[in-house]
Amino acid sequence: MASAPIRVRFAPSPTGYLHVGGARTALYNWLFARHHGGTFILRIEDTDVERSTEESVRAILEGLTWLGLDWDEGPIRQAERMPLYRAAAERLLGEGRAYWCVCTPEELAARRKEALAAGHSPKYDGRCRDRGYAPGGRPAALRIRTAAEGETVVEDLVHGPVTFQHADLDDFILVRSDGLPTYNFAVVVDDAEMRITYVLRGDDHIPNTPRQIQVYRALALPLPRFAHIPLILGADRARLSKRHGATSVMAYREMGYLPEALVNYLARLGWSYGDQEIFSREELVRHFTLEKVGNTAAVFDQGKLDWLNAHYLRVADPTRLADLLREQWVQAGVPAAAVEGTEPAWRAAVVVAFRERAKTLWELADSSRFLFDVPVPVDPEAAAKHLTPEAVALLGELLPRLEALPAFTTPALEACYRGFVEEKGIKLGVVAQATRVALTGRTVSPPLFEIMALLGRERGLARLRALVPGVRGEPSARKRRG
Ligand code: GLU
Repeated sequence: MASAPIRVRFAPSPTGYLHVGGARTALYNWLFARHHGGTFILRIEDTDVERSTEESVRAILEGLTWLGLDWDEGPIRQAERMPLYRAAAERLLGEGRAYWCVCTPEELAARRKEALAAGHSPKYDGRCRDRGYAPGGRPAALRIRTAAEGETVVEDLVHGPVTFQHADLDDFILVRSDGLPTYNFAVVVDDAEMRITYVLRGDDHIPNTPRQIQVYRALALPLPRFAHIPLILGADRARLSKRHGATSVMAYREMGYLPEALVNYLARLGWSYGDQEIFSREELVRHFTLEKVGNTAAVFDQGKLDWLNAHYLRVADPTRLADLLREQWVQAGVPAAAVEGTEPAWRAAVVVAFRERAKTLWELADSSRFLFDVPVPVDPEAAAKHLTPEAVALLGELLPRLEALPAFTTPALEACYRGFVEEKGIKLGVVAQATRVALTGRTVSPPLFEIMALLGRERGLARLRALVPGVRGEPSARKRRG
């Protein structure tokens, strides 16, 4: 088996969005496959017809695609493979390794209660084991005849050997009375049929592993290797959930994270390669091995994800980011027509000017939205501090000089401001900060003359004029110099 080509799978149940934990499992499978030149298979575990939805299937595919985790086979849907499970069930039945059980849920519940009250294990008591029921008439579930004694040792590639006592296992259900296979049955039939060599999944599935091994043995199938990846926890060390913030991969996209940042972050959440933090996708593929997957739960650290995202924002192609930002600007309240009315080159220049200070695309969009023709709310505290009557009077004096500038270029603006403050014998900061608040509504922005150049002459002058009392006229009405 060691020389068999490596085949791994990601097998989500389509009952919700793609969770960051699921995405990390998918990523580790993908990295493992790519590292070894193996095959990564996507299998949709949709036998739970009540909880599975097509919307969820779409959401999962969308999430994987956004992260760039391409699969080589699939999506294979369990719902379309019922004949396979049926054939395996018949085989087990024919060989006496499974049997029909006609106990009703009520009977089972009552016996479980009794057993607990008597201090016994609440597991199925094997009542139908040797009764030889044939299906017909009553609803019946198919149960496996499990080994009663001995133990199973799983050589988990992350956790090391894990021992399970067979006495703790019960004759669990393989096929429910409605004819649908259970997870523990379908997963084995599929993993075997797909020739999966390594099962890498969350360690919440450790307790299922000895049961699945019973099914492998009953069907005389070769076992894959198992590697169970520790869970992701929130800062309070409880299992990561919505309570801790966003857990859906696509929510991160909406908040303005880049897929390469999330991939890098999730890769390092439970795996390491020395103390390296930043990895290109190629580096991850090159270095990813199971030996370096840790065996303790990892804590989700939003700050670190932000740090990585800020890094990737700074190094990404500005044209690509500008393109992604179109959606984010609209989210930030800029009319779509106003966004689309700008030139791609201008949008890319905005990215370059603003990205140094942003942790997410959203912050980038929010901090630069004032560049568009939108109402710019002025922070009252900033106004009180920087738009004092004296500062506004100075802006009023400066305004004709700005109007006289033939173009709003960074050097021309800088020269104009510097000349003005020198003449007046005042500090640049006073007028610069007043201008910044007037144009952006805020006290913090990229360098003033750069943003003035991006904002453009018309919009820049209009915002300054609106501020200075009695200077509301058209520039043509007030003599333009130069
Ligand atoms: N459908 C299972 C889940 O979503 C798959 C578990 C496995 O990989 O075996 O957790």
